[in-house]
Amino acid sequence: MSENKKSVRTEVSRYGEFGLIEKLTAGFNSLHPSTIKAVGDDAAVLRYPDRAIVVTSDLLIEGIHFDLAYTPLKHLGYKAASVNFSDVYAMNAMPGQILVSIAISSRFSVEDLDEFYEGIKVCCEKHGADLVGGDTSSSLTGMMISITAIGEVLPSGPVYRSTAQNNDIICVSGDMGAAYMGLQLMEREKRVLAGNRFVMPDFEGNDYLLKRLLKPEARRDIVLMLKDAGVVPTAMIDISDGLSSELMHICSQSKKGCKIFEEKIPIAVPTRELAKELVVNPLVCALNGGEDYELLFTVPVGQYDKISSLDGITAIGHITPADAGLNLISAGGQFIPLQAQGWQAF
Ligand code: ADP
Ligand code: MG
Repeated sequence: MSENKKSVRTEVSRYGEFGLIEKLTAGFNSLHPSTIKAVGDDAAVLRYPDRAIVVTSDLLIEGIHFDLAYTPLKHLGYKAASVNFSDVYAMNAMPGQILVSIAISSRFSVEDLDEFYEGIKVCCEKHGADLVGGDTSSSLTGMMISITAIGEVLPSGPVYRSTAQNNDIICVSGDMGAAYMGLQLMEREKRVLAGNRFVMPDFEGNDYLLKRLLKPEARRDIVLMLKDAGVVPTAMIDISDGLSSELMHICSQSKKGCKIFEEKIPIAVPTRELAKELVVNPLVCALNGGEDYELLFTVPVGQYDKISSLDGITAIGHITPADAGLNLISAGGQFIPLQAQGWQAF
């Protein structure tokens, strides 16, 4: 944790459970009109107008989803909130509230938790969400974080994974594989630094990859851009487990096939460079690397012109009938069946 930065260490026990909750949530102000009552009672009270609401939850376990050896707590808070907002956006909705539940061991000080909540706060402010509740417990083992986000569906309605149509254009936001490369970088530095944890690793020139891993940005901007352009995706999902795996979700739930083109898949220069250095195929990173938190969506073929004029969105292929299968067309024109080799929870 932050022994190297902070000399002050206040034990959580000095505050007690209620004092701690009060301290950690004190800096949060509710701004959403739908938030009637936030933290402080038995439950939060929300009031939404006559519109569909989305609710989503994510569980993060130390050692499985994050490694505190290289994840600053502020970034962890930011990321924990961000991945939930990403799910909200993937439904064509805007975040309104979150609930944050944590289990922590005694090795966490109040200062550590303050940092964690600071990250949550920055992310909530960016995405216009109010912290309205949660739960706090001690843990005998690692840290656990469960965040639930509530959001309001845009007037154009919720967008599901199951509604892609034949000939729809398949689009992605941003670029793929950078978070995975950031993880490779971290793992490499961790090995080099074994037993030497107070030395700052040399990440010079790899800021982009590290940022993609440690501080993922949920794509609010893309959902708003599509709304302003009058484009309603036919199907949408956020890319948490890798492009290949998410595309398979859309195709299987929509009972369709797909054709995507190798040379269309957006891969950032730093991703390509590190892949080369580590002698791995950047395409494999882009297809199977997780945690990009970009959006994968389909639009009717008639909207191609609109979509291609938008910054940060790339058309990578199209939806086909199911019997054509799921195919990647290589630069040489070869058909390669898509496989999900992304992150699997089990
Ligand atoms: P209860 O015992 O009824 O579950 P708590 O004492 O756990 O109540 O919670 C009191 C208030 O503080 C509630 O509004 C709850 O949602 C909120 N809360 C508890 N833990 C957290 C947390 N880690 N982050 C944000 N709010 C929290
Ligand atoms: Mg409780």
